Amino acid sequence: MTSLSILIIGCGVAGPTLASFLLLGPHNPQDVPHITILERSPSPRAQGQNVDIRGAGVTIIRKLGLERAIRAATTGEEGTQFVDAQNRVWAQFGADKSGKTQTGTSDIEILRGRLAEIFFRRSQALSEEVKGKGGVGVEYVFGDYIEELEQDGAKVHVRFARSGERRSFDLVVGADGLQSRTRRLAFGEEGEENRLKGFDMYGAFFSMPKGPTDTIWRRWFNAPGGRGIMVRPSDEQHPDRSSVFMFVVNEKDERFKDVATQGHKGVEAQKALLAEYWADAGWESGRIIREMEATDDFYYDVVAQVKMEKWSKGRVVLLGDAGYCASPISGMGTTLALTGAYNLAGALTQHPNDHTAAFDAYERAMRPTVDLAQRLPGGARQPHIMAPQTAWGIWLRMMVFAGLYWSGLAGLVARFKGPPANDVRVGEYGFQVADEWREG
Ligand SMILES: Cc1cc2nc3c(=O)[nH]c(=O)nc-3n(C[C@H](O)[C@H](O)[C@H](O)COP(=O)(O)OP(=O)(O)OC[C@H]3O[C@@H](n4cnc5c(N)ncnc54)[C@H](O)[C@@H]3O)c2cc1C
Repeated sequence: MTSLSILIIGCGVAGPTLASFLLLGPHNPQDVPHITILERSPSPRAQGQNVDIRGAGVTIIRKLGLERAIRAATTGEEGTQFVDAQNRVWAQFGADKSGKTQTGTSDIEILRGRLAEIFFRRSQALSEEVKGKGGVGVEYVFGDYIEELEQDGAKVHVRFARSGERRSFDLVVGADGLQSRTRRLAFGEEGEENRLKGFDMYGAFFSMPKGPTDTIWRRWFNAPGGRGIMVRPSDEQHPDRSSVFMFVVNEKDERFKDVATQGHKGVEAQKALLAEYWADAGWESGRIIREMEATDDFYYDVVAQVKMEKWSKGRVVLLGDAGYCASPISGMGTTLALTGAYNLAGALTQHPNDHTAAFDAYERAMRPTVDLAQRLPGGARQPHIMAPQTAWGIWLRMMVFAGLYWSGLAGLVARFKGPPANDVRVGEYGFQVADEWREG
């Protein structure tokens, strides 16, 4: 492989995973691409609550020597309990800890920030190994982002916003998440509303001090008006905390969309809007609102999918949520990001001198998986099933869930309607086998 220079934008889940596999690609360290990872936040962003790694995702973390480290850092969530305003459990569905059947809770549930940190540190360790053997390794740039991006036949030319530096790369990978700026710079601002398909659903993730009713189960409460809250266990590093996903399905109130476009700058407005909507919801919402107002690890966004006919344009390619977010309600976002990083690294390793062939191979490997993951059970109605608008709708859903629970049919439904991660094929690209990694 001739040494390509590759800029990976985003040090979340997909970005450092891609870098790690690129480092494990060729056996000659001098042939490893020159990788730069650019992350907007000033340090690896250790933020975000529960995500799951399923099926193909587990195979991929195993290939990076990370299975043991990641399993040691899971939340241990037992499954999901559906509760009413008096906190009575109507139905509960446990996780299949063998990973054979995919239910709402996977056998690997981990906090997103913790996972991103593990992937970052794994890429750092592999980079040091490559440097030790005479290769270049990875250059990490934190606290900056790209303001301009232009490409000609030979290079992609970018300007860093904060440093003002201009640099050129052979390839640029946008792994910068749902609201990807790389996507807008490379594919154009126009048409963005057709690529980002919202479900009229908005949600916030944050943590709060653990209360006496919080357990190792996820508790899921719904209130009329399309409101839902999940309270979930945190991990071994935060045994005194619980994790919250608070969401609203609302197609009328434009404020939900407006505050989402403000990103991190809009946190106060986002919190105020959710507090307003949840004020009269009952159950534990008083406590949860108070804790939301106090928390500093709050993350709010529209719940959406990214749908594109092609994930590359010239020498720029999209990876993970940036190109094909399946939304947190799919349970497949992290597994897709990992599978995408693995397949993109494989394609680049197999076609080192032909980025068009590499991007086509990546597209062919990923398209069926993405289509499968984005097909939500219940289709476009899925958000309304997650958060019915009326008390009657909530009662009906509870009755259906209770029926599935008491009849023992829940396992059968999960087998056919659960996240499709066990159906995803993981190809072979001849990467070096990574040693089991230990946190030191
Ligand atoms: C702060 C945060 C919290 C999250 N919390 C949850 C959660 O609780 N539950 C859940 O299911 N999913 C959550 N997600 C989404 C989840 O991480 C992804 O769906 C999934 O893991 C796919 O990962 P990804 O690497 O494609 O994207 P992400 O994990 O979103 O990573 C993208 C990275 O790019 C960085 N970035 C963004 N814009 C730029 C830019 N212009 N320049 C440089 N870097 C940029 C971000 O800071 C981030 O580190 C969260 C994402 C983020 C960023």
